[in-house]
Amino acid sequence: MDETNWRDLLKPPADGSSPCWGPDSGLRARALFPVRVNAYFAALIQSADDPLGRQVIPSAAELDDPATADDPLTEERQSPVPRVIHRYPGRVVLLVSDQCAVHCRFCMRKRRVIQTHRDGKPQLDRALAYIRQRTDIQEVILSGGDPLMRADADLAALLSELRAMPHLRRLRIHTRMPGVLPQRVTPALVALLAGYHPLYVNIHFNHPAELTPAVATACNRLADAGIPLGSQTVLLKGVNDDPVVLTDLMERLLDLRVRPYCLHMLDRVPGTRHFQVPVERALSLLAALRGPLSGMGVPHMMVDLPGGGGKMALTPDAVIAKGPEQWWIRNWQGGIYTYP
Ligand code: SF4
Repeated sequence: MDETNWRDLLKPPADGSSPCWGPDSGLRARALFPVRVNAYFAALIQSADDPLGRQVIPSAAELDDPATADDPLTEERQSPVPRVIHRYPGRVVLLVSDQCAVHCRFCMRKRRVIQTHRDGKPQLDRALAYIRQRTDIQEVILSGGDPLMRADADLAALLSELRAMPHLRRLRIHTRMPGVLPQRVTPALVALLAGYHPLYVNIHFNHPAELTPAVATACNRLADAGIPLGSQTVLLKGVNDDPVVLTDLMERLLDLRVRPYCLHMLDRVPGTRHFQVPVERALSLLAALRGPLSGMGVPHMMVDLPGGGGKMALTPDAVIAKGPEQWWIRNWQGGIYTYP
């Protein structure tokens, strides 16, 4: 794709129609999942095939995918009321926004993000009522879309309602905003969030090129306010399936006081096959991070089991044999050691 072509894909369809079915396969992919890239992130992209471009610019490969389930994790079935996913005891996901600062081509919630501009107030009220009445819930994860697409006043109202529920011990926000539109992390937003400790923020980062000075400022603001920061990364072929890239990303996140938390296997929604990294390769990448990276920097490799089985950590086989007196364990360099 030449320079003009991929920049054209970031513009609204010329005839104002949406979706847009054109002869170009990139346009057809755009029709399946609309393009959204803000000016800040677009300026970081050098080409459609660079690690940032691949994440947000539609590709013909999206059309060549037999996957059909738009909700492979069966989140909708595990939703007792709209906007709540209740899969595990003690914690729920609360979907507070259907919008994002960019549309990631690999997003596993495309089905929701595509229905932007829903007000959602009656649904949110019902969701809050559910959480209020379920006193066994201890932790709420605000997700979406991106929760930080909500205006400050909306967020303050939401967080206040949640904080007023005495059974909730912790709040967590999952967001891509500090990495894709760091200007959203204003001093006012940070002061607002800091009023609701203990509140954790997990930030979605996929590549070291995302870690600009503006992102560093956003992370520093959050960390200086005492907000524990973690990262989530989706393992993506052609973007970050490389031990050098992943090591650099995790090292630089640690420098920004963001603790690498999860490295996610791709959730297979339609249009994502070209991003998939086989499990075997993923485990070898994880093994390659051990040793070069401090233990603090090695994320959990998580797979969200299709059909609603939940998240499970994948680990390279460290224990290679078990005896009555000792176990045989492989170290990060492949050496075999015994442990009594
Ligand atoms: S920011 Fe998150 S929810 Fe939004 S499109 Fe990207 S992956 Fe999906």
